[in-house]
Amino acid sequence: MFWDQRVETMERAALAALQLRQLQDTVRRCSEHVAFYRQKCAEAGVRPEQIRTLEDVHRLPFTTSADLRAQYPDGLVAVDRQYLARLHTSSGTTGKPKAIFFSRGDVDRAAELIARCLLMTGVRRGDVLQNMMTYGLFTGALVMHYGAEKVGLLVIPAGPGNSERQLLLMRDFSTTVFHATPSYALYFADFLERKGVDPRRDLALRKAYVGAEPHTEETRAKIEQALGIDAYNSYGLSEMNGPGVAFECEQKRGMHLWEDHFLMEIIDPVSGTPQPEGERGELVLTSLTREAMPLLRYRTRDITSIIPEPCACGRTHRRIERITGRSDDMLIVRGVNFYPQQIEQVLMKVPGVGRNYLVTLRGLDEMTVQVEFTEAGFDGQVDHLVRLQNQITEKLRAEILVKPKVELVPPGSLPVSEGKARRVIDQRVL
Ligand code: ADP
Ligand code: ZN
Repeated sequence: MFWDQRVETMERAALAALQLRQLQDTVRRCSEHVAFYRQKCAEAGVRPEQIRTLEDVHRLPFTTSADLRAQYPDGLVAVDRQYLARLHTSSGTTGKPKAIFFSRGDVDRAAELIARCLLMTGVRRGDVLQNMMTYGLFTGALVMHYGAEKVGLLVIPAGPGNSERQLLLMRDFSTTVFHATPSYALYFADFLERKGVDPRRDLALRKAYVGAEPHTEETRAKIEQALGIDAYNSYGLSEMNGPGVAFECEQKRGMHLWEDHFLMEIIDPVSGTPQPEGERGELVLTSLTREAMPLLRYRTRDITSIIPEPCACGRTHRRIERITGRSDDMLIVRGVNFYPQQIEQVLMKVPGVGRNYLVTLRGLDEMTVQVEFTEAGFDGQVDHLVRLQNQITEKLRAEILVKPKVELVPPGSLPVSEGKARRVIDQRVL
């Protein structure tokens, strides 16, 4: 089902023409109203009227998250203050947050994009969405909330955590779909198992939207299997409205990125040059319709690739692959580079491994991976745990080329955060 079939299935040529018009308009607004961009464009030697084709986007300067922090609180606002309708921030674990402003129209457009995403997964009026993301300055919950209301779903603003209450709401109001981080979805599945609740028998759940943090195909499979649902990958970032930038359709093969609102490029994260189509690299987004705070060539640091082939669902907006991590998430341990996602990929495939893990780096490159085992897989025999531990160590070594210390811990014993999962704690004295 479509929210806006005409736009979602628009011919590529028409879509490109629309993008070009909107790009030109965005560059003009940035140069006229944002001193930061006026100066950056001057430095790059590009004037708005020189943007004549979509390829000309490469002439524009990048915007980085450091720029957003430097322009905090409102240096990137492109409209008069009276048109600002909402403020969100993007956490960032250290230092100043990034302030993200929305105009009335931006709020509406963000909801509109969520509406497209939700209908694309087959929900409809009558469905009940339990929103388990954090309400507040974080975009994740509110933007989804507005979009789900637009579709006509019954929305339960549950917020994160408090699994007892989540279960109560889910039971009493027959929740059919929930929105959560993948780490909380796994934790919740574990919680249900410990409570003796069989979601297939006892709950009305059919779908979940999982996003806001990287997760692997193996993790998705685990969520789906444990809860008896379809889980759809949801990608977004506060700088581009929050959720609703790219989302999986019922095919579940990559996420359609809404190209009438965002112009995407994939670049080499080191050199900054465009990657050939289909190659992995850093996703760079230019907002095409944001009014309050348009951003040119924003470096997301998220690593993905564009899937050029058309999708069986009929939508013409191209898909991106699952995000494998942020370019700055890369770990270097004993001189070897790898991404935390590689660890997750290995762990989630090993039978007997539970749903949570934590990587800790200490001293001079000592690496410990704590892994929860499953209640069901543990028969009380210590040598079985030792065997599992050795098996995990070997598989990790083969994948990341570093031999970590693996510690098996009981289900539910590792910390679960209310917001985004923290998978790596780096306390090295480097
Ligand atoms: P913060 O910057 O505080 O983490 P955001 O909500 O703006 O808050 O975070 C956006 C980032 O979250 C993205 O740039 C990306 O790194 C990550 N992210 C969001 N959705 C996904 C997803 N489906 N898969 C992988 N990473 C995701
Ligand atoms: Zn599709």
